[in-house]
Amino acid sequence: MTISKLARSIGESPTFALNEQARILRERGEPVINMSIGEPQNKAPIAAILSSAAKISSGSIKYTPPDGLPSLKKAIIHYMEENYDRIAAPENILVSSGAKQSLFNILYSILNPNDEVIILAPYWVSYPEMVKMVYGIPVIVTPEDGTFHPRLEDIERALSGNTRVIILNSPNNPSGEVFKDEFVGALVELCERKKIYLIMDDIYHKLVFDNRRWTPAYRYTNQDLENTMIITVNGVSKLYGMTGFRIGWVVANRKLVSVMNNVQTQITSCTSIVLQAAAEGALTGLQSIVENLRLFFQNNRDIVVEELQSFNGVNIRKPAGTFYCLPDFRAYSNNSVELSQFILKKALVVTVPGKEFGMEGHLRLSYAGASKDLKEGIDRIKWALDPTSPNEIYIGDRRLVRDWL
Ligand code: PMP
Repeated sequence: MTISKLARSIGESPTFALNEQARILRERGEPVINMSIGEPQNKAPIAAILSSAAKISSGSIKYTPPDGLPSLKKAIIHYMEENYDRIAAPENILVSSGAKQSLFNILYSILNPNDEVIILAPYWVSYPEMVKMVYGIPVIVTPEDGTFHPRLEDIERALSGNTRVIILNSPNNPSGEVFKDEFVGALVELCERKKIYLIMDDIYHKLVFDNRRWTPAYRYTNQDLENTMIITVNGVSKLYGMTGFRIGWVVANRKLVSVMNNVQTQITSCTSIVLQAAAEGALTGLQSIVENLRLFFQNNRDIVVEELQSFNGVNIRKPAGTFYCLPDFRAYSNNSVELSQFILKKALVVTVPGKEFGMEGHLRLSYAGASKDLKEGIDRIKWALDPTSPNEIYIGDRRLVRDWL
């Protein structure tokens, strides 16, 4: 069987692989707690359901224009105005099957082979793989130990004549960090000056805690949408808990959007009209759902941080947004893959190894799940690792005694 060198070099998505492992264990009746899950557990907004159901009931389920349903684009234009203080034209917008495809379209349309993309660690697992998929080179910039905030001078040092793109995800998956306004401002200034695209992955932008305000990167440029180097990516997966609807979008200059449009036309023709209708429903319907989710995650964040702070040896930086945290477990192991497998085997808790995000010695814990599972999940991890914790535990209806510490 012939498999291309490139395809062979692309890694499996570790988060999807772990979710599958959790699903199989649960199907076997094991009392698994899944702290790897990257999606809110809410039901889809009623406005999204009604809007897509109405589309299906019409019986007219056809192609849409490849760049997106005009009425959805209208809703995105309104969203841009309300949240970004920018007036986009329909020609600035491309709707795709999830922010994931949006990011791929951008990288495919900008990069030539061996062009470099600056990715800040800890990073979302798919960025380096996507860059490799279009024959680009991911250049990882790592923060100083103990922080999740790479320094601007380290980013500047990583630039070369081949740098075409910097990707910034704030609030950040996996750390929950919200980058400081001054940092975002300095990055915008750097990118505008050097003519490097700055992809702002804003997929979590409303999930920020403690009354902190999220600031759009456009605030730091005087350039209009046609001339700025800022490219915005967003979608309904995280803010509305609509991961399965697969709708994301890009806002960029018209030239780039028209190239991405050609690319997308050749691959998918367009995104499903039913799902675009759902996204339109979400964007134009009641917005309290987003705030409810934000409050739910903030409460879960508090539970998880409190539990982890009482955990001997674990270092936790309080997340300012998203539904993830990335505690440092180096007191227990420097090998996060082995540690994550050990925790799964002994305590039936699914975590994601920090190595996958460029942050070895850490584990990513999601707090998107039910609040009652979070405390139990961390208690189980504590039992498996911390010799000062009680050595007996109930997992499901099984009483277990720790005999390995
Ligand atoms: N960017 C980041 C940082 C993400 O965490 C995710 C989803 N895990 C995406 C993009 C992709 O989202 P979508 O479901 O819209 O493809």
